[in-house]
Amino acid sequence: MKKWSLKAKLTVLYTFFMTLLTCVSLAILFSLSNQEILTSVQSDLREQVHKGMDEIEAEEGSLDVDSDFMDLEKGIYLSLYSEDGAFLYGRLPYGYENRETLSDGILQTTQGSSGKWYVYDLKYWLEGYGNLYIRGVTSVTAAENSIRITLRMALIILPLLVVFTGILGYRFTRRTLMPVRRITETVQRIRRDEDLSRRVGLGKGNDEIYQLSETFDQMLEQLEESFGREKQFTSDVSHELRTPVTVILTQCDAILDQEEISPQQRTQIRLIRKKAQDMAQMISHLLLLSRADQGRQQLAKERLDLSELTEMVVQEQQLLAEKKGIQVLAEIEPQIYASVDESFYIRMLVNLISNGISYNRPGGWVRVRMTQTETEVQGSVEDNGIGISPEALPRIWERFYRADVSRTDSSHSGLGLSMVKWIVNAHGGSIRAESSVGKGSRFLFVLPKEKNENL
Ligand code: ADP
Repeated sequence: MKKWSLKAKLTVLYTFFMTLLTCVSLAILFSLSNQEILTSVQSDLREQVHKGMDEIEAEEGSLDVDSDFMDLEKGIYLSLYSEDGAFLYGRLPYGYENRETLSDGILQTTQGSSGKWYVYDLKYWLEGYGNLYIRGVTSVTAAENSIRITLRMALIILPLLVVFTGILGYRFTRRTLMPVRRITETVQRIRRDEDLSRRVGLGKGNDEIYQLSETFDQMLEQLEESFGREKQFTSDVSHELRTPVTVILTQCDAILDQEEISPQQRTQIRLIRKKAQDMAQMISHLLLLSRADQGRQQLAKERLDLSELTEMVVQEQQLLAEKKGIQVLAEIEPQIYASVDESFYIRMLVNLISNGISYNRPGGWVRVRMTQTETEVQGSVEDNGIGISPEALPRIWERFYRADVSRTDSSHSGLGLSMVKWIVNAHGGSIRAESSVGKGSRFLFVLPKEKNENL
């Protein structure tokens, strides 16, 4: 039952109880009507026998019976007998064996080979003739057959009724639970698109589900507001920090330009400068991400030769990598054209290559590959560095996540890959990572060639 939907459970429950209720009521109804029919057959029989007495007269010792005596009313056969039991007049039903001894005012039930009969006799004194018996006979089987036919009809109609009730119950439950489906779909969409601006929007209603949906929408409203405030806060802080960091950098440069400072002071100022540069980079990543969250980050796409641009970035990174004894290799198909934002594309590539260099060993390599299909550009940045553990792999795209903090210096904030992911997604593409600890990592991305007008 656990695996069943609420709709199915309610429908089954509803149908089960409806069937039970119908069966019980039909059973009661049939047993009552069965008794009622038999009682009315018996009273008809008595009445007809009594009426039969009025049709008989005696004239000078012989009987004069009215022709009405022979008429069959309500399926009752009347016959007339002398005091010693000899048949005098009347009709008997076909198949009735007439073996019962005559009685007075007693209703007998007999079972013959052709069915079951009610027999009712009445003895009376006829003026001018003497004692007589009137016998009334009627078939019980015929009455019971009519009940049986009705029962059979009910047995055919009942399953149809169950099916009809089931369908009706299902439709009703589906309609009632429709708002619950809307709520689920809204939550799923919010999760998928990470879009808190969506609402269930069922409108006003008095039932519990409408109230739930309204409460849910109010909660979303509050969540959206508080997330919005948080985004705004990050954006404001990053903005405010930009100026002091720029001032620190220019002041460091100015001090470093002076010749009279001691070598020790020069080293100290260089360290301050390096840290300020790391901070400036982190602030720039934060600003981009908070603008992206607020939907304010625009892309300036243009058709570019990605082969050339990638080659250029690789060469630049090669110079930095050489200092660490790492090689940056390129296998790039010529003349790959796509519509991208140049500065964002460079930022994405620089991040992936510099990670490949940072998380590597002397003598290692980073390989950038790029090919194209008719519709998309397929690229990869691979290294034979330290690799990423399977537990860390799904988390590397999270903000401020660093898999191995002890191995990274302060220039690594853990924001790089979040930014890379946003850039690729904003271009309508996708990116994924594969890695094996101790062997290396591979980042594969796909970008559509055409300009995506929605972004
Ligand atoms: P960071 O600024 O720390 O490099 P990223 O978002 O770029 O932040 O990367 C997140 C984490 O993913 C890194 O701290 C690192 O542990 C791991 N990582 C990223 N790229 C690689 C790579 N090529 N090889 C091994 N680990 C990597």
